[in-house]
Amino acid sequence: MQPGVRVRVPFGSRELTGIVISTSTSSDIDAAQLRPISEILDQSELIPPHLLELWLWASNYYQHPVGEALHSLLPAGLRKKSAAQIKSHHSDQKQTEMASAEEAFVPQPNHQQTAAIQTINGSAGQFTCFLLDGVTGSGKTEVYLQCIAHALTQNKQTIMLVPEISLTPQTIERFRERFPVRIAILHSGLTPRQRLNAWLEAASGEAHIIIGTRSALFTPMARPGLIIVDEEHDASFKQQDGFRYSARDLSVLRARHESIPVILGSATPSLESLYNATQGRYQHIRLTQRAGDARMPSFQLVDTRKQPSEAGLSSDLLQATAKHLKQGGQVLIFINRRGFAPVLHCEDCGWSAECSSCDARMTVHRTPPHLCCHHCETRQPIPDHCPDCQGKSLSTGGTGTEQCETALISAFPDTPVLRLDRDATRRKGELERILKEINNGDPCILVGTQMIAKGHHLPGVTLVGVLDADNGLFSADFRGQEFMAQMLIQVAGRAGRANQPGEVLIQTSNPEHQSLQTLIHDGYHVLATQLLQERDIVGMPPYGYLAIIRAEAVNMAAPQRYLTLARQIIISQEKALGFNGIEIHGPLPAPMERRANRFRQHLILKSQSRAALQALLTPVCQILESRNESRRVRWSVDVDPLDML
Ligand code: ADP
Ligand code: ZN
Ligand code: ZN
Repeated sequence: MQPGVRVRVPFGSRELTGIVISTSTSSDIDAAQLRPISEILDQSELIPPHLLELWLWASNYYQHPVGEALHSLLPAGLRKKSAAQIKSHHSDQKQTEMASAEEAFVPQPNHQQTAAIQTINGSAGQFTCFLLDGVTGSGKTEVYLQCIAHALTQNKQTIMLVPEISLTPQTIERFRERFPVRIAILHSGLTPRQRLNAWLEAASGEAHIIIGTRSALFTPMARPGLIIVDEEHDASFKQQDGFRYSARDLSVLRARHESIPVILGSATPSLESLYNATQGRYQHIRLTQRAGDARMPSFQLVDTRKQPSEAGLSSDLLQATAKHLKQGGQVLIFINRRGFAPVLHCEDCGWSAECSSCDARMTVHRTPPHLCCHHCETRQPIPDHCPDCQGKSLSTGGTGTEQCETALISAFPDTPVLRLDRDATRRKGELERILKEINNGDPCILVGTQMIAKGHHLPGVTLVGVLDADNGLFSADFRGQEFMAQMLIQVAGRAGRANQPGEVLIQTSNPEHQSLQTLIHDGYHVLATQLLQERDIVGMPPYGYLAIIRAEAVNMAAPQRYLTLARQIIISQEKALGFNGIEIHGPLPAPMERRANRFRQHLILKSQSRAALQALLTPVCQILESRNESRRVRWSVDVDPLDML
């Protein structure tokens, strides 16, 4: 019996479906305690050996139990006893026509794209990791499409991972139009049956292209050819709870196991990937120009200390908006805060509306009117007087998307104003409707959160306004500046993607800030190099390796007590292994200590050696797992955490 086959096994008084991960002719466990397999469900392995190996490696590396790791990523349908079979569907494969169909597509790749395509396709059938580092609008997608086409001519499959937010019907349409082959789409909105089908189509080789979010990386391919990670810097590739894996990092490992190329694409590559490129681990391919006739937008800082503003909109930004609309352009206003205002306070006594379950303020919403905590989703009616002093002078502070939208509607009554944030797009199909309206090209104003910053191609946008760049500049997190820079460049990248030149206005009360200056005058890569030097000095990733042990409990003292124990276990294991040089910080309260009525603390481990950290974490987690104290808190380990929050 091969590993990767499903079996039915007795488990207590029940019978469950399991996956064989290895076989052995002897065991340390007493023979009387071993139980026979009751049924073998698959004739051949359901999970190919390479993928099983990746899975086991990941469960070990991210310190997550194998069973749970498998459970969280396998389609639920496979747990049923029935044989895994694809439900029949229309078979629309025109595989043999691919090569000729491909020729019919203009745009004709430019020189840089052609070079990229040739380099990547030249590596087909062997492992190479390419960092496709191309400015926004440089035609990275076109490069992906041509590489996929090449894989298809070799009768090979491609997995393409995209950030959660950019898996829109538009994206899928672009692929369907281009390739008349079976394309499996994997995202969180699928029914269990659809998910199982997509998975099986990929496993059988029936689907030639698999497009999906993070977890699609664990889809088997019968004839693996290529893996693509689009917007590789995007945070959504790291799972933030349960099995905390990085789909980006694992995609490189998987490509190596399967001896195929992998493309990590971005206009703002993560510092990790840039570092790997300079170390020669990744092959760096740059697209420095926009495709076609589009030019890069120009940047301008607006000092908000020197300008009156209306709902956060400076007069410079309002004037620029009027100018661009008059010229027939579309305007995009980026503001990373949904709702009407982040604060409701009393002008008489200074009271402000706070969440009763979190160390956080309630956000004021107007449509419909309510207060909402964005950390635990608690809702309350808006009070009409101050609960502390009974005064009637309640007012809001700060600006959210709703307020910005309202102000723009009254400033530009003849122009459609569209809002794009989580609230406005809660209804299914709404995001697509709004994107469609924008893409008809008529002048309009789009107000939105980071939802608009990612991946969307909005050729009509000529002006981008960033309402407030200050948040990212002073973030407490070590990746704060990197994230800020990526966000600004990505939002700015929505401007001027067609033949009209684009303009970007960034509002800030710190226009002299060094990072901001470097970013707009010297560009993302110069700033990235500086940030890397800073990380090097303090030994932070990618120069050092981190793991965070987090604990939370309703009882205020419990998390700290627990992590103090964890710290002791770590120190004694370190001694036992003869390691030194692993730094332990904490236990420390999380930046927002209380959230959803739980107190939270964390313990940070930092090492210059990934292997040492790994060798230490494995026994530490095993010991923690076995301790009774571990039942009294919620605890987790995050290896290569994205943030320390
Ligand atoms: P990116 O993913 O790098 O932001 P896209 O692949 O979305 O860029 O391309 C941006 C736009 O440029 C798209 O409308 C695309 O069709 C167009 N485009 C891509 N390559 C070319 C080319 N060689 N000539 C003309 N237009 C192109
Ligand atoms: Zn008051
Ligand atoms: Zn709350």
